Amino acid sequence: MAKEKLKCSFCGRDKSETLLLIAGIDGHICDACVEQAIEIVNEEIGDKQISEFKDIPDITPKQIKEFLDQYVIGQEEAKKHIAVAVYNHYKRLRHKNNSDIEIDKSNIILVGETGTGKTLLAKTIAKFLNVPFTIVDATVFTEAGYVGEDVESMLSRLLQACDFDVEAAERGIVYIDEIDKIARKNDNPSITRDVSGEGVQQAMLKILEGSEVQVPPQGGRKHPEQKLVKVNTKNILFISGGAFSGIDKIIEKRMNKSQIGFNHDTKEQIDEDNILRHVTHQDLKNFGLIPELIGRLPVLTYLERLDEDALVEILTKPKNALIKQYKALFDMEGVKLTISPDSFKYIAEKAIEFKLGARGLRTILETILTDAMYEIPSQKDVKELVVDIDYVKSKIDNSKLVKFKAA
Ligand code: ADP
Repeated sequence: MAKEKLKCSFCGRDKSETLLLIAGIDGHICDACVEQAIEIVNEEIGDKQISEFKDIPDITPKQIKEFLDQYVIGQEEAKKHIAVAVYNHYKRLRHKNNSDIEIDKSNIILVGETGTGKTLLAKTIAKFLNVPFTIVDATVFTEAGYVGEDVESMLSRLLQACDFDVEAAERGIVYIDEIDKIARKNDNPSITRDVSGEGVQQAMLKILEGSEVQVPPQGGRKHPEQKLVKVNTKNILFISGGAFSGIDKIIEKRMNKSQIGFNHDTKEQIDEDNILRHVTHQDLKNFGLIPELIGRLPVLTYLERLDEDALVEILTKPKNALIKQYKALFDMEGVKLTISPDSFKYIAEKAIEFKLGARGLRTILETILTDAMYEIPSQKDVKELVVDIDYVKSKIDNSKLVKFKAA
């Protein structure tokens, strides 16, 4: 019996006309059809991902907070404020045609020391909502006409994050980091031009409150040859954050002043350790933000300093906790990594001692595990690594972290 000629079951090409013919259970597919199929899949699934951005999620503030709880440890006040602000933001979008009353935007400002989770909160919210998200650094902006970037470039980044789908970008979230660094530099604005401080704050007003903005799609300065894209910022949620170093003194001063005239018993208890919990819009103004900008960031909340217990939780609890990540890395090598609980406490203590905060946990873990991660891939017989407190101490004591501290 003559052997049946092999053909692509999709396009019918003979095997000799193809570069490659892949066999399936009941047929064959050629290289050209595989390529075409990939294109179709990309088009279909890619479209779906973008169109998901366009659905306004039907969620409650509690659900938002529960989601944040999976990734962000502590920071209860901030999570609650953000959950309500985001809920109202999307409620406002959903009901925009049903009422004569225009509800203002609930842009957010987060005050908290570096490494306490401000960026993480904003990032996690965007993940939950599945909306385009970008992080921008306020320090790169300058007033138009000076060396630096125009504030409009924050929208260029948002557009880039969603493949220039303007409709999706118009419902996105922008996290403006280091907003405290554009505080007014001096009390009298007329002495010198404050192009990277008050000038930038002024330029931001229009974007934050909601208006049609001409955006250079590739960012940078508006070049005449660059075609601008019109983006309406009315429904974009802006979350800004900063450490506001020194604001504690401003808060303390205000609170002490307001207590003059009260007798001791009626004094509000000032929480010295967490003075930021008392922060008000007035304090931001005294710090150097202009009232118009503060007015466009109506939701103000704070992040607490992370203590040892919180740092231990950060190491182990969140969905993508650092310890889980390192265990997974070793697992890929076929090695079981076990770290003793007293080591977690020690690592947290060191992060506080070295003033590294949560951001330093990773640095310390790298210090502890780098030697093992270097050696183990060439030691095929090693199946387990047990890290106890002595192991941790020996690695940290011999590291440059200690020298850095001593310096
Ligand atoms: P900030 O923006 O306040 O300076 P980040 O959000 O960038 O700080 O935090 C730096 C890193 O520290 C995060 O990527 C995260 O791994 C960890 N981290 C900080 N705060 C928390 C927290 N409250 N819960 C969980 N992880 C945190």
